[in-house]
Amino acid sequence: MEINISRMMNDLENIIGFTSTPGNGCTRFSYSQEDRKAREYLFARMDEIGLDVKVDAIGNIRATYGKELNKPSIMIGSHHDTVKNGGKFDGLTGVLAALEIIRVLKEEEVELSQPIELVSFAEEEGSNFGITMLGSKVCAGKYDLEELESIKNPEGISVYQKAKDFGLAIENAERDILQKGEVDAMIELHIEQGQVLESQQKSIGIVQAIAGMRTYKITIDGDSNHAGTTPMHLRSDPMAGAAEVIFHIRKTAREAALPTTVATVGKIECKPNIPNVIPQKVEFYVDIRDVEAEGVQMVSNALAERVKEVSEEHSLKSTIELVGESDTVKLSSRIINQIEETAKEHQFDYLKLNSGAVHDTAMLSGLTDIGMLFIPSKGGKSHCPEEYTSEKEIKAGCDLLLNVVRNLACKKPEKQEI
Ligand SMILES: [Zn+2]
Repeated sequence: MEINISRMMNDLENIIGFTSTPGNGCTRFSYSQEDRKAREYLFARMDEIGLDVKVDAIGNIRATYGKELNKPSIMIGSHHDTVKNGGKFDGLTGVLAALEIIRVLKEEEVELSQPIELVSFAEEEGSNFGITMLGSKVCAGKYDLEELESIKNPEGISVYQKAKDFGLAIENAERDILQKGEVDAMIELHIEQGQVLESQQKSIGIVQAIAGMRTYKITIDGDSNHAGTTPMHLRSDPMAGAAEVIFHIRKTAREAALPTTVATVGKIECKPNIPNVIPQKVEFYVDIRDVEAEGVQMVSNALAERVKEVSEEHSLKSTIELVGESDTVKLSSRIINQIEETAKEHQFDYLKLNSGAVHDTAMLSGLTDIGMLFIPSKGGKSHCPEEYTSEKEIKAGCDLLLNVVRNLACKKPEKQEI
């Protein structure tokens, strides 16, 4: 069984037209006019195939095919929001894959024993409030109403208010929490946003685990002084201290931690940030990820030790603050096995891999059996206009997911009475 790729690409082209930055990538923030247009387009397509559409309190779209079967659904989908000047494929591909799969199941009159539910999560990218996967987190009951009133965007508007202004019944957030047993399985098709599949020339990635992560904020205080008149031995230079720490983080992640460990310093601020002044203060963030908790711990330990040593050596005052943490999520072996069996059955060229990026599906861990399928990203690029996955690769991913869904939700033959 195959999807109709030209019909799906037509949907994709239509929705990527809803951008606030034409000519410079896709910008489709949740709760924006572009989001509204994308939703109207999706609702029209869902209406054509008679889906039962529900939009929950935070704006997640949940559209069910075969609701009358009255059983836990097989959920498929992703998110349809973007970062600023983002790509065409991140998130949207998974949502449109779900739509196309349901269309094919309906056209082919496949008899189901369970409903199929399309999901499109809101505010996955954190573009409004700086909190990624907000829609799926609210769906999983990770925030209460009080918190939704206190989380604000840079203009001071709360999640609660923003959702209300968009016409959502945010006051029902707690009522709309996904209940255990409501969904039998959730499978998300997503672009890899990395280069593993491309470098190994595989068309499908079956995700086994999503890396856990820790984010630390390091603050180093020194003694600001004149860059010309202060002899080197009399300096307490926080920038030089930060440089030593950053170098050591990279060295530890590359050479001493596990092969799966990655560590990054992607944000640094210096005060007063003037070329001829020894800085007073340097702040930077360290992002450490690994599917093995041990790898994250090794770099965390090395970071703490090196910060202490450097501070003592150069008379600096330092603090380390843990600002974010998430555990490794192992995906369901039932779903991994089902995807692998189906991939073998239909001769897809697949690879089992781990994800360094967190996705909506991970938020539903513990509520349902979760699985993820990756399709290649050219050059590993994402969150930019250059993001690219070929039509052929999209079709392969969707065809596999279609057959996985069919295998999971198809009417099992009744046992013969002897
Ligand atoms: Zn995404």
